[in-house]
Amino acid sequence: MSIFGNSIFGNKAADAVANPAADSGAARPDEQAPASQKTDAQWREELTPEEYRVLRQAGTERPYTGEYWDTHTAGVYQCRACGTELFTSNEKFDSHCGWPSFWAPLAEGKVRYIHDRTMGMDRIEVRCGTCDSHLGHVFEGEGYGTPTDQRYCINSVSLRLVPRDTADSATAEG
Ligand SMILES: [Zn+2]
Repeated sequence: MSIFGNSIFGNKAADAVANPAADSGAARPDEQAPASQKTDAQWREELTPEEYRVLRQAGTERPYTGEYWDTHTAGVYQCRACGTELFTSNEKFDSHCGWPSFWAPLAEGKVRYIHDRTMGMDRIEVRCGTCDSHLGHVFEGEGYGTPTDQRYCINSVSLRLVPRDTADSATAEG
């Protein structure tokens, strides 16, 4: 059932989505976008320049500079662009790579995967399943000793942490 076992690495046609950064910015009226997707102008207006660069142009924040790379606060991480709950602190672990790292998303279907062969590497890009914003990449088999042996390497600027005690404090701590 691993994403690495079937669809992604096995499907070389999965890179059908063009890199938004390569787009000149011209409108593409025939684009088959998710229903919730906004226009480029709307994203530019709503997001900060750094958020826009990472979320909408598949950029990467510099390691050890993001808000959450070393955060241990219990809570839920939402998509910075659309507010969808994507990850929780339960799956966050210390990878010491300089970005927030999770060994699984909150649930299957919360994120989508795209085969990314830019930058001279062969990687799996992770995007928000709701608004299609860039989140980061997922790697497998690095030996971190987590339940999945996967590392969702996510930009802090793509996320917004909602601490648990401001939401539902009834959840039992393991
Ligand atoms: Zn989103």
